[in-house]
Amino acid sequence: LLKKTLAFKNDLHEALNNKEFFIHYQPIIHTASGTCCGAEALIRWQRPNGPLVKPELFIPYAEEIGIISSITKRVIDLVFEEMEQFLIQNKEAHISINASAEDIHNGWVLELLESKIAKSKITKQQIWIELTERTFLKMEEVKKIFIQARTLGYVVVVDDFGTGFSNLSYLHNVPLDLLKIDKSFIDSLGMHSVTSNVADHIIEMAQGMNLQIVAEGVETQAQYDYLKEKKVDYIQGYLFSKPLPAREFIKFAAQRNIG
Ligand code: C2E
Ligand code: CA
Ligand code: CA
Repeated sequence: LLKKTLAFKNDLHEALNNKEFFIHYQPIIHTASGTCCGAEALIRWQRPNGPLVKPELFIPYAEEIGIISSITKRVIDLVFEEMEQFLIQNKEAHISINASAEDIHNGWVLELLESKIAKSKITKQQIWIELTERTFLKMEEVKKIFIQARTLGYVVVVDDFGTGFSNLSYLHNVPLDLLKIDKSFIDSLGMHSVTSNVADHIIEMAQGMNLQIVAEGVETQAQYDYLKEKKVDYIQGYLFSKPLPAREFIKFAAQRNIG
């Protein structure tokens, strides 16, 4: 196991040096208008002549061996490289970036974003920062970062909402913009299972607190109709599109927003 871990560690370092990471962008749809209002940046790793490695496999490793920050930096660099034109031409659009616990705890992500933004015409509201609830172990630190990010003008999203932190009292203490309902709760909509009305409760609670909502992993028209009826603000899922390479995403957005 140790050998395998060490090999993986080398592979990840090599991947960074050889630029083997790239981004796919999954469209996010504004529910009421049906337009594409942005995308989530999702990392991909293609080994030379090898298979595509899923982020779920290597992100936890990268976190464990302490190189997640280098990966996040690569993601941010790529997003600014590939999406700058799109964001300048579509001032209402945004790109969501996933940050890990470590990125947040030492706060450098905000510094990097600040320096990037200063050199571009992208506005801060066009950058959404997604933090999964798993990050929330040290609530005081998370709170500090959320306040900083929002004060600076970024949009902060709680990712995988409902799966991690069991004490929801943080919702009252931490300034938030958006909750992203985890796919597992979307899957169980209308299934008559134990969790099938969790989504309803989350929606009701978020709306009661004036938070916006993204539903992720929407695959069927029935799920979409239901969420639209409930006035969920944004939808993301295979029903509209899988994550796409930059150029294809830009084409998708243009077609969707003209048609
Ligand atoms: P996540 O942030 O919850 O991202 C959503 C995942 O759900 C993505 O998987 C996306 O492709 C998938 N998905 C979206 N809609 C559907 C759907 O309708 N059906 C199905 N079956 N799946 C759907 P992906 O790209 O494999 O990413 C998995 C996880 O890896 C992400 O979950 C996130 O936690 C992590 N990840 C991805 N990119 C990054 C990154 O740049 N940085 C960090 N720290 N984590 C990342
Ligand atoms: Ca995410
Ligand atoms: Ca999720």
